[in-house]
This record gives sequence, C-alpha cells and structure tokens, in this order.
Amino acid sequence: MALEYIPFNRPYATGKEHGYIQDALDSRYVSGDGRFTKLCHQWIERRTGCARALLTHSCTSALDIAAMLLDLKSGDEVIMPSFTFVSTANAFVLRGAVPVFVDIREDTLNLDERQIEAAITPRTRAIAPVHYAGVGCEMDTIVAIARRHNLRIVEDAAQGIMASYKGSALGAIGDLGSFSFHETKNIMSGEGGCLLVNAPEFAQRAEIMREKGTDRGRFFRGEVDKYTWQDIGSSYLPSDITAAFLWAQLDQAEYITGERLAIWDRYHAMLAPLEQRGLLRRPIVPADCGHNGHLYYVLLPQDADRNAVLKKLREAEIQAVFHYVPLHSAPAGMQYGRAHGDLARTIDLSARLIRLPFWIGLPEQHQQRVCETLGAILGR
Ligand SMILES: *Cc1c(COP(=O)(O)O)cnc(C)c1O
Repeated sequence: MALEYIPFNRPYATGKEHGYIQDALDSRYVSGDGRFTKLCHQWIERRTGCARALLTHSCTSALDIAAMLLDLKSGDEVIMPSFTFVSTANAFVLRGAVPVFVDIREDTLNLDERQIEAAITPRTRAIAPVHYAGVGCEMDTIVAIARRHNLRIVEDAAQGIMASYKGSALGAIGDLGSFSFHETKNIMSGEGGCLLVNAPEFAQRAEIMREKGTDRGRFFRGEVDKYTWQDIGSSYLPSDITAAFLWAQLDQAEYITGERLAIWDRYHAMLAPLEQRGLLRRPIVPADCGHNGHLYYVLLPQDADRNAVLKKLREAEIQAVFHYVPLHSAPAGMQYGRAHGDLARTIDLSARLIRLPFWIGLPEQHQQRVCETLGAILGR
C-alpha cells in the first residue's frame, strides 16, 4: 500500500478569509490603512501592549523600518545570533551597519545572553534577539545589558505571535519588535508582517517611514492640511485585502495557537522514548516562556548524518527540513558581518537540527508515523 505523503507545511485558513476580502471590496477601499488594517492594528496593540502596531508587507520590511529608525552610521554594530533568518541581518546591513554574530544557548537555541557583553564595542548600537520557535530569549538580562550600555533592542519576533516571556508578549519587550505573517508562520496572510513600536518616541517617525517618508497618516487624521516629504522611507503598507485575510486569522488566534500547542505536545510525548534512548534531543522551553507551538524540531546526535536522515524520511513520504545555515558561514554573512568567538554551539546545533511536519489538521496517525519512522532510522 502506498504511503500517504506528509508535507512539511500546509497553510491553514479559518474560512472567514473570503468573506472579509469581499467586505473590503464592497467597501470600495482596498489600499493601505483601511478598516481591516485598523482592526489588525488594534488587535495587536491590545494583545501585545505595544504602543503602536504598523502592518507591513513582511517581517523583513518591519525590520527594515526598525533599522532605519535607529539612525545607524556606517560601521555601527548590531549584536545578533548567527542562527537566524537572513532578514535579521539584512535590515541593518542595508543601513551600513555590521552584524556581530554571538553564539546561542544550548537549550533554546536563542542568543546566549551571557556572551553579549563581551561582544560590545564602542560601535555597538543595538541588540537584535531572535525568539526561535516562539520561545522567548532571556529578555530580563538582555534589557539590563541594553540599559547599562545605552543600546536599543530590536526583537525579531517573526515566529513569536501569541508567545510570552514572563507574561510579556514577545515583540513588545524591546524598543521595537516585528512579527511575520508569512505562509509558514502561525498567523498568516501569505506574505505579511508587523512592526511593533514599543518605545513611543519612535511612533511618529515609524508611521512616516512606512508611508514613503510622508506624513500622509497625519493628513488623513486631519492633523495637517497637506502631506509632504518628511523623512526617508519607502512603501510598506499592505493593501486592505491582505489585512482582511489577516483579520480572519487574528480573530482566531486563540484557536490556532491551541491547535498548534496540541500538535507540539503530542510530538513531545511521542518522542520522549527516543530521547531516553539517546537517539535525539527534544526542544527545551524554560519555565518563564509561554511558547506558541510555532515549530517542532529535534536535534540529532553529533555523529548522525542529517542529510541521510532527511533522505530516508523523504523515502518514507515524510517531508522534514533543516533550519538555518548560520549567517556567519554564508557568503554575505562573511562579507558584511563579524563573528564574535568561534560560534561553536551555533555550528554544532544548526547542523543537527531537523524540523518535523507541522500544520493544523496534521492527524495524530501522521505524527505517530513520523516518530516511528524517525525511531527506525535513528535506532538502526
Ligand atoms: C520568517 C522569519 C523572518 C522573515 O519573515 P518575512 O515575513 O518572510 O519577511 C525573519 N526572521 C525570522 C526569525 C523568521 O522566522
């Protein structure tokens, strides 16, 4: 009997997307900052406590605005993990700044806060922690370091919606934060993102930069009688069609997160025996972190051949993937960034990581098959 193919991701729709998009069309307003964008902004502001939420085309563009807001000069440095997506670094490199890559923690795979201070130089301006898998970085320590050295914090919370650290929403702790609504994220609109402005002094400029450097937002609120070029900026507003789609998802955020956590918990229970046998390591979530079931990964033993494992999973009709090629080892990372220390954990952990199929509706039998197949491959 042919095995049913288990894809890595399957975008989830709540069923309300079409209706809301139709509403947007019927209202005859489908460009940026319409009714649905406002609903999304309000929801994110209430839910996270950020001073200002601003929808963007992507998390990448939210990070771009964040980097612009910091007024970085050529050669300024931003501390970040090497174990992250390219956008964390690109945003700052586009401003002429240098990413300084610091190693990650063994347990969460997040920026190792104990190594940040040693990487600070007179040129350091900001820290960009990334909340991998929706598990918070050790933010109390990172905030304290930032205060001590007068640095800004830009949180890459691309994976962090509905997740928290000591009760605070990820993305709403640093000066600025960002969410992604890309298809592969928990809450999505195909492509999409949001800038979270937490330090209120950035709010007005953020709005202007997002509107091509104009004060169009103030004009529409009747605060100025014409709008003009005020600052640098670009076009970052998603259409209200995108926002209508996103609203259908935000509205169901509790349900979506609950479903994902149930899938995560099932994997975690099913894989406990393999961990006991020393065949893999499961994710570790510190007690202070309320995660959001964004993804489930396992770490293979040091001597395992990851490519061979992925290939055998593929042969068993299971699509599993790896995550990230460390930035400091990539061509642009070497050109534009600088490694702090040997990044031994980044190199080791990133080479051993496998992400398992994860999507709402993933049947329990599929999860069972993934875990059994993994056990058979690794136990051989
Ligand atoms: C997905 C992701 C991004 C990029 O998000 P986009 O919305 O696709 O631009 C950035 N950083 C991290 C950590 C991500 O996971």
